[in-house]
Amino acid sequence: AEGRSRYVLFSSSMDEAVRTRETMERELRQALADPDAQLRLYYQPVFSLRTGEMTGVEALLRWQHPESGLIAPGAFICAAEESGLIEVLGDWVLRRAVRDARAWPDLRIAVNVSPIQLRNRKFAGSVRAILTEAGFAPGRLEIEITETALMAASSEVAGSLKELRALGIACALDDFGTGYSSLSHIRDIAVDRVKIDRSFVQAVNTPSGAALVEAIVGLASANGLHLTAEGVEDNEQYAFLSKVGCDEVQGYLLARPMPAAQITVMLEEGASF
Ligand code: C2E
Ligand code: CA
Ligand code: CA
Ligand code: CA
Repeated sequence: AEGRSRYVLFSSSMDEAVRTRETMERELRQALADPDAQLRLYYQPVFSLRTGEMTGVEALLRWQHPESGLIAPGAFICAAEESGLIEVLGDWVLRRAVRDARAWPDLRIAVNVSPIQLRNRKFAGSVRAILTEAGFAPGRLEIEITETALMAASSEVAGSLKELRALGIACALDDFGTGYSSLSHIRDIAVDRVKIDRSFVQAVNTPSGAALVEAIVGLASANGLHLTAEGVEDNEQYAFLSKVGCDEVQGYLLARPMPAAQITVMLEEGASF
């Protein structure tokens, strides 16, 4: 009910909420002092609908909390953003992702970034430094930004995106359809890929839902954009997306987010769907 205070996990009373927020911030700060100890990156495979092959992975952050166990990012990203810890956290995510990805030379690696990171004019430069240090080809990296973040874009955000793309890094518009932009906006947006939000994929069994996804597929292809559907959970959704010509799919039907070692095993086994 408190909207943005999504990290208020244990109580609805204001007193408790403040304490919880402070506790979370303090614990997150502690975790970041030795990030490899408590933070984990999971990877969710993305598959080509045309070939059935795994073409990439999306890095998804987890916090292995000493008392609470594995915490999903929805519970702490907001606290990280509000406390200013998101930049340090985001740098760790990127470093970890490119390090893990060296074992998967043929995969594209997608990393989620917060608009707060993009607002920093030094962001693209720091991404470049991380890639250089790791000897990682910029063309294999894709940055995911939510539609809402992009629509609220300041000149700093636009500047960062331009610099990233000039470095050869791809940009994807995440959660497409959930923000306030109109479909026709797709044309003016400086991105390489659109990710159709799960809520649309879930609605393809209704006539209007199906028509909407088909319209997005048409717009993306007319504008030369790659298109990934996320949250694909059943065979009907998969068949529909394949029929209308979506490029790529991601979701529990195909594979859940998993530790890096499991991606390596999947690749060794010739993972395809
Ligand atoms: P997202 O970028 O939209 O990521 C997709 C989310 O949907 C992930 O949740 C994933 O586990 C989940 N998912 C994938 N397939 C399915 C499916 O078939 N059905 C359902 N119901 N869910 C599916 P997760 O890992 O909890 O991440 C939540 C959000 O946290 C992400 O949404 C992203 O916005 C944010 N996030 C994750 N990692 C990072 C990060 O490193 N940095 C930042 N800034 N944000 C992150
Ligand atoms: Ca994403
Ligand atoms: Ca998404
Ligand atoms: Ca999302």
